[in-house]
Amino acid sequence: MRPRPARIDRLPQQYFTALLDRVAEAAKAEGEPLIDLGRGNPEVGPPQHVIDRLRVAAGEERAHGYPPFRGLPELREAVAERYRTVYDVEVDPDTEVAVVPGTKTALVELAIVLAERGTSVLLPDPGYPDYPSGVALAGARLVPLRLDPSAAWAPAWDAASLHAIAAIYLNYPSNPCAAVAPPGVFSDAIDFARRTGGAIVHDFAYGDLVFDGRRPESFLSTPGAKDYGVEMFSLSKSYGMAGWRLGFVLGNPEIVERINLLQDHTRAGIFTAVQEAGIAALTGSQESVEERRSRYEARRDRVMAALRGTRVPPPVSDGSFYVWIELPKGVTAEDLLTGARVALAPGQGFGLAGVGWARLSLAVTDEQLERGLERLVRALG
Ligand code: PMP
Repeated sequence: MRPRPARIDRLPQQYFTALLDRVAEAAKAEGEPLIDLGRGNPEVGPPQHVIDRLRVAAGEERAHGYPPFRGLPELREAVAERYRTVYDVEVDPDTEVAVVPGTKTALVELAIVLAERGTSVLLPDPGYPDYPSGVALAGARLVPLRLDPSAAWAPAWDAASLHAIAAIYLNYPSNPCAAVAPPGVFSDAIDFARRTGGAIVHDFAYGDLVFDGRRPESFLSTPGAKDYGVEMFSLSKSYGMAGWRLGFVLGNPEIVERINLLQDHTRAGIFTAVQEAGIAALTGSQESVEERRSRYEARRDRVMAALRGTRVPPPVSDGSFYVWIELPKGVTAEDLLTGARVALAPGQGFGLAGVGWARLSLAVTDEQLERGLERLVRALG
């Protein structure tokens, strides 16, 4: 066989695979059972009516052939209706919505359809570790876009590179910073896109998980947004459907068309029964979304209360299902893993700005959280 193509070798280490391996290895060591507060995997599945719809739809004759490559029209309409009623945004279900098998796939494909060799992609630092993968496959340059903790984690636009920008990724509510969109951040991003010619990619995977009475804020609700970019929306976190692999790219019709074109060549649609269940999730009772959101908010409050009186500076968590913790000097997530037997996601995996930080997940049971917090407080007190 010939050597691996360079594009494969350019892929960075897969952070989450490495993290899972490390936690599994640490779990085997002598000592108390490990408590894993590192994983961002919804702990409760979708409401029963969604599962029931999957069951019935899987038995229907039309489930078994190839689905329409560009998604069921009723599914695109259902997500457009949700954007209209919940986020106050109009999107055309035919030209401004692409159906994707989860946004992890979309965020890689977006880099491929927006960037190429000789161009740059700005990625939030700290930011979600899967963003660099698409940039690597596109052969483009990754340029960190520093988020400023003293400005509610808004990008430090003044320090950002202006050279050959192909795309700018943003993510609010943010993984790992747990920040909601700071006021003005989307219009500043649009100004930046207008000046540089880069496209905005807003990751709204945690869109519905906002706390303290906030309303979800879609990037597409900012005037001009659709001229300059797209938003990714996922059923994974809002409905506990991470394993089902269903998401959307919405907004700029040219970018939506590029995603559809790439998928026409690389995929053959998404299992019809999953799409039918997605319609049920989007159009049925939304009670479960509110229950989920308020459960995370209550756990967030628990974490804040427990960390008071430790050496950890008071964190801010306004949305998502994380708390982003600045560790006391000299303490690392690895120390907590081996010493306190509690796993957090080490901050350095989220970029250079994550060194010295760690991400705690609220997507665990109340019991796990309580036991994990006891150990953390002991270790960080
Ligand atoms: N974006 C962010 C910020 C995430 O945290 C995740 C999942 N952890 C994703 C995208 C991918 O979500 P999915 O592929 O399940 O839609």
